[in-house]
Amino acid sequence: MKKGLLIVLSGPSGVGKGTVRKQVFKDSSLNLVYSISMTTRPPRPKEIEGVDYFFVDKETFLKGIENGNFLEHAVFVGNYYGTPKFYVESLREQGKNVFLEIEVEGAKQVLSKYQDDPDVLSIFLLPPSIEELEKRIRGRRSEEEEIIQERLNKAKREMTLKNQYQYTILNDNIKRASDEIRDIIRKRLNKK
Ligand code: 5GP
Repeated sequence: MKKGLLIVLSGPSGVGKGTVRKQVFKDSSLNLVYSISMTTRPPRPKEIEGVDYFFVDKETFLKGIENGNFLEHAVFVGNYYGTPKFYVESLREQGKNVFLEIEVEGAKQVLSKYQDDPDVLSIFLLPPSIEELEKRIRGRRSEEEEIIQERLNKAKREMTLKNQYQYTILNDNIKRASDEIRDIIRKRLNKK
């Protein structure tokens, strides 16, 4: 059996990675599985343990780092986020195409670890503008002003890293952006 792809979707917080990812996943022919991350951030209303994230305390997370359990990890606006290593490789071995939705620091770690792997696909999702991104981050209404400002400042810095990805996709329209990502995945699968 052919080993699955590792698909890395990154881009600034608030750009709509989650929404686009859910749309892309509607195409079951792509054989995608979502890598559920671990985080120390408290759950937002409606977020579900083991579906959106594995929510853990800082001590558990730090132990995970110490034990080498993460493929990558990063601190984002005061909280830890990381990709559990185990699932990614075992699912790829089963021929599944594993989808990571992560911020840029973690993506950098993954892309450098896998630089010789032809089955890694990296995609950066761009917001139509910084103003639009601010509107989206504020629209969530789940964070304090200070955190919103931090996320916005971070987004501006994150945008400068887009050239490190194989593809950049503009998210001005969810359907179009998702269709483009599906096409990219399909084409790569056909080449294998
Ligand atoms: P949020 O708090 O909005 O859910 O996530 C904050 C940022 O962390 C987003 O850009 C999100 O994509 C990213 N993120 C989520 N899971 C991971 C992960 O496992 N590793 C890294 N590096 N970033 C993650």
